[in-house]
Amino acid sequence: MEKPKIWLSSPHMGGEEQNFVNAAFQENWVAPLGPNVNGFEEDIENYLQADKKVAALSSGTAALHLALIQLGVQPGDEVLCQSMTFAASANPITYLGANPVFIDSEPTTWNICPKALEKAILDRKAKGKTIKAIVIVHLYGMPCLWNEVKQIADKHQLPIVEDAAEALGSIYKGKKCGTLGQFSVLSFNGNKIITTSGGGALVCTTTQAKQKTVFYATQARDNAPHYQHTHIGYNYRLSNISAGIGRGQMQVLDKHIDLRRQMNAFYQALFAPIAGVEVFSEPTSDFFSNHWLSAILADTDKTGGISREDIRLALQEENIESRPLWKPMHLQPIFKEAPYYGEKVAENLFDSGLCLPSGSNLTDQDRERIKTTIQKLFKQ
Ligand SMILES: *Cc1c(COP(=O)(O)O)cnc(C)c1O
Repeated sequence: MEKPKIWLSSPHMGGEEQNFVNAAFQENWVAPLGPNVNGFEEDIENYLQADKKVAALSSGTAALHLALIQLGVQPGDEVLCQSMTFAASANPITYLGANPVFIDSEPTTWNICPKALEKAILDRKAKGKTIKAIVIVHLYGMPCLWNEVKQIADKHQLPIVEDAAEALGSIYKGKKCGTLGQFSVLSFNGNKIITTSGGGALVCTTTQAKQKTVFYATQARDNAPHYQHTHIGYNYRLSNISAGIGRGQMQVLDKHIDLRRQMNAFYQALFAPIAGVEVFSEPTSDFFSNHWLSAILADTDKTGGISREDIRLALQEENIESRPLWKPMHLQPIFKEAPYYGEKVAENLFDSGLCLPSGSNLTDQDRERIKTTIQKLFKQ
C-alpha cells in the first residue's frame, strides 16, 4: 500500500471555523456580504495593529488587480515587479494593458534587489517610459529589505504594492508585513498559512481607499435605486461563508506560525550536519519570517553531486511532496519579451532551491519519514 501523502502545505482547521459557517446558514447570510465578512475584516485589522482598513476579497490576485487600478495603472504604463515570485504577482499588471518590468532578487532575503530596482527606474525613465508602481514580495514569508526598497521608491515618488500573500504574521523591524505598502495584499488560498478555502484581502491606508476597493469589488454600482454605472466593476467580494472559515482561522494564526517555525527549526537541525545544503533563514534579528514554506539550497559542488532534483525525486519516491522555488517571471515563456534588470541571483536560486513540506499540521511521524528519507539519500 502506498504511504500517505505528505503535502508541502495543506489546510489546517482550528476547530471553530464550522461554528462561524453554521451561523451564516442559520441567519441566511449566504452571500458575498454579512457579519462574517465584517468580522473577518476587523479580525485582520486588529491583528495587523497598524490602523489599516481591510477589504476582504475573493482572492489575493483580485486584491493586486484592485490595488493597481487605484494607483491609476493604464494601458502602456510600466509596473516594476520582483521577478522571483508566483505569476499572480505579475498577471494583474497585464489585465490592465500595462507592461511588467522584472527585477532580480538579492541573496539574503531572496526578494527584490534594491540596486537592480534603482537601475531599472533610472533606465526606464531615460527611455521615456511611465512607471506607475512597484510590486514587491516577501517570498515564503521572508520580509524583503524594506527600508532600502522604500527609500528608493520615495526618492522616485513611486507607490509600493506589497504582495504579502505569503507573509501574514511576518515582521520587519517590529512592523507586520501586510502593513508596509501603500496597498498590501493578503491571500487565503488553500495552501497559504491560513485559508478561507479561497480568498484574499486588500489592506488599505484610508477608509476612502477601502470604500473604493469594495465599490470596484461589487460591480461598481453608483448610488442610485436602479443599476447605474460610471465605472467598470468586478465581482471580487469574499463570500460570508468563506469569511466564516477565515474568522476561525484567525484564532489559530499565531499558533500555526509557531508550528511552521518549528518545521523550519526541524530542517535546520536535519541539514546542519549535511555539507552543501543550506536552509533558508532570517539574515538578522530585524527579520521575523512566518516560514510559510521552508526551503533549502543544494550546492552540488559540496553535496557530492546531489542536486535539488535528486532530493525532490527521493522524497517523491516516499510520497512526500516538495517543489522547486518559484521560477522567475523573466524566464517564463509568457513574459519572455518583458524587460529584466539584474544578474543571475533569482536564476541561481531557482536552479538549486527546493521547498519542503512545511504545514502546521505535520506530525512527528511525518517528520520521521522526511528525516529518514533525507538521511538515507545523504548516507548519514
Ligand atoms: C498565493 C499568491 C498570490 C495569489 O493569491 P491568490 O489568493 O491565490 O489569488 C499572489 N502572490 C503570491 C506571492 C502568492 O504566493
